[in-house]
Amino acid sequence: VSQSAAKLPSKILELMDGFRASKALFVASKLKIFDHLKDKGPMKAVDIANDVGTSVCGTERLLDACASLGLLEKTPQGYSNTDSANTYLASDGKYSLHGYIIHSNDHLWPLFTNLESAVKEGSRQNHRAFGKKADDLFKDYYHSQEVKQRFMSAMHSIAHLTARDVATAFDLSQFKSACDLGGCTGALAHELVQVYPNLKVTVFDLPEVIANTSYFQPSGQHTAPVTFVSGDFFKDSLPEADLYILSRVLHDWPDEKIHVLLSKVSAVCRPGNALLVAETVLDEQKTHPSVAVLQSLSMTEGKQRSGSEYKQLLEKYGFTDVQIKITGNLLDVVLCFKKSLSL
Ligand code: SAM
Repeated sequence: VSQSAAKLPSKILELMDGFRASKALFVASKLKIFDHLKDKGPMKAVDIANDVGTSVCGTERLLDACASLGLLEKTPQGYSNTDSANTYLASDGKYSLHGYIIHSNDHLWPLFTNLESAVKEGSRQNHRAFGKKADDLFKDYYHSQEVKQRFMSAMHSIAHLTARDVATAFDLSQFKSACDLGGCTGALAHELVQVYPNLKVTVFDLPEVIANTSYFQPSGQHTAPVTFVSGDFFKDSLPEADLYILSRVLHDWPDEKIHVLLSKVSAVCRPGNALLVAETVLDEQKTHPSVAVLQSLSMTEGKQRSGSEYKQLLEKYGFTDVQIKITGNLLDVVLCFKKSLSL
């Protein structure tokens, strides 16, 4: 390494280029290049371009970019997927991140293009990115069938990746029934019934979501059924359960809404019932992990919290024995129990 190379600010140079790399991944995913190569690779650029309906020179540049980023392999026979592209980038696998990548391209990218205004104004930039007034976060997602499907696929893909670690972070075998509030497609619910065959799991989510869940159900699996119930967790009564789950829900909402939701969950819990929260737990300085810190830049009215902040929040609503498990996956897990009246 020459003296000048040793001094290169490589971290900064990498960040300066990060947006190009992200966009290359997004466009290759959007064009379903990883699906094509999973089925037919290795393939030459010209054949991929013909199949996908893109220019040969543009496709070749994109494929070379993907190869340089370690997403594809390039040999004299053509381009083929790496193992990780087959698992995570083709759209059909159990652990596919395709849904989240498309959400990142179509939704997060336009929002982050307006980050400067978001920081100046301290608010979400939906109106600038999509020409719409920033309303309830989920009303934005569910106004069209296409955006709703895209959002649900995004949630589904991350939930698949995290579900096993969330389900096994604590031994939940003492519980007979669980209700996953805002449980979306049921990805975590299905994992829970696999790990705990005696657990009955109800997924509770908005009617627009529940009406759309059939597309996401695992086929050919004879696991205990998961029940889907539609409702609004701020307004409607919650299904009965020994264990309530809030996975990636608390970080979306301002304190007033959290007050309504946690008051309701606490009121419906009997002593000894529990609440499991799955979120990325920040360190006490609130600068790591960066995946959660960067997510905050979307400027929803909610926020990411540290372990001590989750503990304080949950104790305020009558929960005790708060335990936190840092999983090493994208989501960590907080488990707490409803206080008995005598405590
Ligand atoms: N729990 C899932 C996960 O971890 O992948 C989904 C998380 S997603 C960020 C939040 C979920 O809360 C969505 O499925 C959304 O439809 C649901 N939700 C939002 N507002 C709701 C409400 N008022 N009542 C019930 N569910 C709601």
